[in-house]
Amino acid sequence: MNAQEEYLQLKSNWRRRIVASYYVVAGIISVAEIAMFLFMVILSEAQDMDTSYVGIKYVLFPVCINFLSIWLAQTILKKCHSEAAKDWAVVGSLMVICVVVGLVHSSFLIAPAAFVAPVIVSCILDNKQITKLSSICCACLLLLTVWLSPVFDDVNTDVSRWQNALAGLVILLVVSDICLSLCDYTEDKNDIIYHTSLSQERMHAALKMDSMTRLFNHSEFYHCMDESILWSQSHHRQVSVAVIDVDFFKSVNDTYGHENGDTVLIRLAEILKDNCPKEGKAFRYGGEEFGLIINGYTKEQTYELMESIRNQIYQERFSFMPERHLSISTGIYEYQGDDMDGEEIFKKADLAMYEAKQNGRNRTVCSA
Ligand code: GH3
Ligand code: MG
Ligand code: MG
Repeated sequence: MNAQEEYLQLKSNWRRRIVASYYVVAGIISVAEIAMFLFMVILSEAQDMDTSYVGIKYVLFPVCINFLSIWLAQTILKKCHSEAAKDWAVVGSLMVICVVVGLVHSSFLIAPAAFVAPVIVSCILDNKQITKLSSICCACLLLLTVWLSPVFDDVNTDVSRWQNALAGLVILLVVSDICLSLCDYTEDKNDIIYHTSLSQERMHAALKMDSMTRLFNHSEFYHCMDESILWSQSHHRQVSVAVIDVDFFKSVNDTYGHENGDTVLIRLAEILKDNCPKEGKAFRYGGEEFGLIINGYTKEQTYELMESIRNQIYQERFSFMPERHLSISTGIYEYQGDDMDGEEIFKKADLAMYEAKQNGRNRTVCSA
């Protein structure tokens, strides 16, 4: 998982956590509605109240709408693929709860202040665009709720309702401003984290590579060997390992210089990489020794491949040694899922490579 995928996973977890916490909010509101309803019923003995009408209006209606909006948000989180739609589902669900509370309980002076909650949540979601838009939406919904509230709860006078709305708007403005600053702060922080993780990823990748040939290095050889052993055992397929050593390379260095020797190694690495099948990986094991690990290849297939590579290398002409052919000796071992570790497998292929050297070099030998 790269840094971007990890971030999206983290956000997805947080969205789920936030929406789950809405159930707690809706639960608390429901308990409060029921308590208030019971309180009204007790009082109504003296006031002759229509209990079922009050029950539907103050308990059933708000409780159903609240839980429905949360369920809808959860469904969008599960089914929808758009990141923005998921963010809006989380913020929108809380807006619906605020509208319901604002409509049903406009008599409470504090009700319009509830509209700060969706803005704060949008800020947690780390999306400045949504924080901006949800601030505007909440301001509009606050005014709409105050305007419609007499339909549900006409305890307040017009003057006190609009005074409340103004106070709510001021609080919303202040909170939105703080949340937008917080978004900027988070963005800057994310920038630092992103660049740090990017350079860490690059460093991690560089640690696996040989800087001169751009092939995987010695330690990555053993890491891949371990992976291939597991692959072989779980897929019941063979893995072929080839150990390649350049013949008489010391004399290349001695005759044409170390720098030209490096040029030869870089070109050999290119030929290996170009010929390496997609099931395999090419390595610089060390010095003038290279390796190939190929999942699913038999020793016969690997032999054919290595002979073709050996021929290409033999045909290769270097400007500083036009008269000289370069050759390699290769040893191959076919691993078949036995109880062996990477070093034991390497040793088998290495022994076969020494056999190739002893038999006259410029050849490929398969381990028995
Ligand atoms: P053989 O056919 O038996 O393998 O002979 P050889 O000369 O290739 O073997 P030997 O082990 O004697 O020499 C390997 C040489 O590879 C010695 C070393 O200087 C050279 N070498 C190792 N790493 C590098 C490198 O990074 N660059 C260059 N130019 N030479 C290197
Ligand atoms: Mg060697
Ligand atoms: Mg050599």
